[in-house]
Amino acid sequence: MTIYNFSAGPAVLPKAVLEKAQAEFLNYDGSGMSVLEMSHRSKEFDQIIKGAEATLRELMGIPGHYKVLFLQGGASLAFTMIPLNFARGKKAYYLAGGLWGKKAYTEAVKLSKTIPFEPILLGSTEEITYAELPSFDKVAIDPEAAYVHLTTNNTIEGTAVYTIPDTNGVPVIADMSSNILAARYQVEDFAMIYAGAQKNIGPAGVIVVIVREDLLAGEPVLSSMLDYRIQAENESLYNTPPAYSIYIAKLVFEWVKEIGGVDEMERLNREKSGLLYDYIDQSDFYSNPVRKVEERSLANIPFVSPNPDLDAKFVKEATAAGFKNIKGHRSVGGMRASLYNAFPYQGVVDLIAFMKKFEEENA
Ligand SMILES: *Cc1c(COP(=O)(O)O)cnc(C)c1O
Repeated sequence: MTIYNFSAGPAVLPKAVLEKAQAEFLNYDGSGMSVLEMSHRSKEFDQIIKGAEATLRELMGIPGHYKVLFLQGGASLAFTMIPLNFARGKKAYYLAGGLWGKKAYTEAVKLSKTIPFEPILLGSTEEITYAELPSFDKVAIDPEAAYVHLTTNNTIEGTAVYTIPDTNGVPVIADMSSNILAARYQVEDFAMIYAGAQKNIGPAGVIVVIVREDLLAGEPVLSSMLDYRIQAENESLYNTPPAYSIYIAKLVFEWVKEIGGVDEMERLNREKSGLLYDYIDQSDFYSNPVRKVEERSLANIPFVSPNPDLDAKFVKEATAAGFKNIKGHRSVGGMRASLYNAFPYQGVVDLIAFMKKFEEENA
């Protein structure tokens, strides 16, 4: 039986990458060592981390005045590090288009009890369970504010921001965890981009941070580990980095490049997600909760059947048929198909065949 992994994260990785890692596992590049056993100060690892950065820069078109960092703590620690590094004494705006965006705001509010700054919720669609993106009036934004924080892809709710909003000149910081390298964005539109690796980049344990250098001019923060400036000065090697995760990320970047880069990746993602959206749209049985077609995510597609009992039955039967991890997030229920870069087209074709059969049996 073919297994398709629809997990929202940690998620499916390209088979070619796993095979390469397997082939190199015991003896990396003639070193006689596994990457797992290497010093992060060795020349082999230096080539790995520099190679990962170079390929990512090429893929995303990252200009020279941005630093690329490979750090730890996931996107969740970035929720604290961002205000700690950039917001002191200022206002910081948050757009909550989903639960992750709200969490970023909630963490900022917590931190503001000990560090002086003012987190402000600029827009939220929580009252409609994030079925569309929040909007706001740009004149409401104080031009002296530190930043506007947004989430480019709402992993749980299945919406995405494709056009970066006008923020009255205030720098935009984006959580791109679930669609980095899956859709084309202009790095210059952001002061900082960050993404946990475990959706489109590689294994859990590393987060990619792309930050404009002028943001790193501020005062030192509480501790070296939480200070983006110190992490940048030490080229992500202030302490021992998650070396193996960075190695796999490098292989994934090379794989994306080989496929044809981010534009080709986006084309393939539109093709895959389009197939599923088209099927859901013509069906009277399934529906997608996102209200505006132009806000649909290419990466995470939530859908429901006519009732929660049928959803539970769908998940059970789909899992038994090899469609793994298709249950929706516990906050929204239903199903969710995460179609990240490494997810194969054939998996969508086979899922639709299964959905048809389930509909015929249960309508
Ligand atoms: C998964 C996810 C997170 C959480 O990432 P961690 O690495 O587990 O902290 C944050 N934001 C978005 C948009 C996500 O998809």
